[in-house]
Amino acid sequence: MKNEQNVKIRKRLQSLRDEILKVIDWRDTSSGSNGAMDEIDQANELIEKEMGFVMSNNMRANLKEVEEALDRIDKNHYGKCLHCGQDISPKRLEVLPFARFCVPCQEKMENKNR
Ligand SMILES: [Zn+2]
Repeated sequence: MKNEQNVKIRKRLQSLRDEILKVIDWRDTSSGSNGAMDEIDQANELIEKEMGFVMSNNMRANLKEVEEALDRIDKNHYGKCLHCGQDISPKRLEVLPFARFCVPCQEKMENKNR
């Protein structure tokens, strides 16, 4: 029933992943190494300073979230909150296709962290 939607979301997530990978790739080559975490972190700092690249630190986290979302599509868990198991609202998924939690859970967690 939801197959068509899943295909769309999968495509979106895959292009998102490609974009993130491009940035990470570019960083790897610019730091002259192949994926050593420490060096990437150092490169992150450099890039942030050089380009004001605010999201750099979140890139790997984002990639992981996107890949997890793709994995959830494969396992038919996509769109469910990992915390309470409720469906995540389609509007939220449109804005944040790799959302892991529903809005109430997300808010609860953010409040806890503060
Ligand atoms: Zn929830």
